[in-house]
Amino acid sequence: MDIIRNIPDLRIYRKKINPNFRIGLVPTMGALHEGHATLAQASVKENDLTIVSIFVNPTQFGPNEDFERYPRDLEKDARMLAGLGVDAIFAPSTQEVYPAKAQFYFDIKDLDQKLCGASRPGHMNGVVQVVSILFHLVQPTHAYFGLKDYQQCRIIQTLVEELHFPLEVVPCPIIREEDGLAMSSRNVYLNREEREQALFLSQTLNAIQARRSEFSSINEIQNFALKELDKFPLVKLDYFEVLNGKTLEDLSSLDPSFQPHLFIAAYLGKTRLIDNMAFGD
Ligand code: AMP
Repeated sequence: MDIIRNIPDLRIYRKKINPNFRIGLVPTMGALHEGHATLAQASVKENDLTIVSIFVNPTQFGPNEDFERYPRDLEKDARMLAGLGVDAIFAPSTQEVYPAKAQFYFDIKDLDQKLCGASRPGHMNGVVQVVSILFHLVQPTHAYFGLKDYQQCRIIQTLVEELHFPLEVVPCPIIREEDGLAMSSRNVYLNREEREQALFLSQTLNAIQARRSEFSSINEIQNFALKELDKFPLVKLDYFEVLNGKTLEDLSSLDPSFQPHLFIAAYLGKTRLIDNMAFGD
């Protein structure tokens, strides 16, 4: 497995690849877990060559977020990816990716107005910025994204459609710990009590989905989620929303044709966690 640290080396590597190859790209911020591994495995299986990028992208972090303390361990990540049959890691420095102050800002419309887009101003701009750069540099035919970051995945799919990037976005299912908590690089921040109470997210989504036939309105679902919250005193809710799973717009009803989708974000101490689940059969 090659570890490529700068853009000139990536360009040389890219030029040598057979033009008929299917090339999978898995963009990550490192501190890899089984969720990332599943994306990499899907890419290795479905492509002739897989490149995993590892880059903690400063432009998608807000000023009071965890950019500095975000976990970084390239050696450990490289061991995991080598074992999965990944061909190359692209792990550039910040200076390499952003040699100058960016002059372009992505003003994302409807898809950015809710959920993490609303809670983290500028976050999705940073995501689209770095993903566009990676697409231009790596030129993959297929790019793998996890549905844990559902809104991010929808925005990237739309970016690829609107800007005609010649590649296919492959959404991958959420990978969970045995007790249901969605895997995240940020889970390492949680102390024992926070880790226990983090189950609020997945348990609430599962409970709503299990009782789906009992709900006749979005309000009822929201009230149920708020009642669950009372059982988890350490949890500070950021949002709980039921939205159209395709457009991420508000729903007028739970009609299955709107593909209702549950979204949740909450703080455990300083750690912000997210989860989501389709609602309905
Ligand atoms: P990150 O390193 O957090 O930027 O994530 C890199 C990619 O892995 C993104 O496409 C995420 O959606 C995906 N990912 C992270 N956690 C999970 C998970 N638990 N299950 C599936 N995909 C995930």
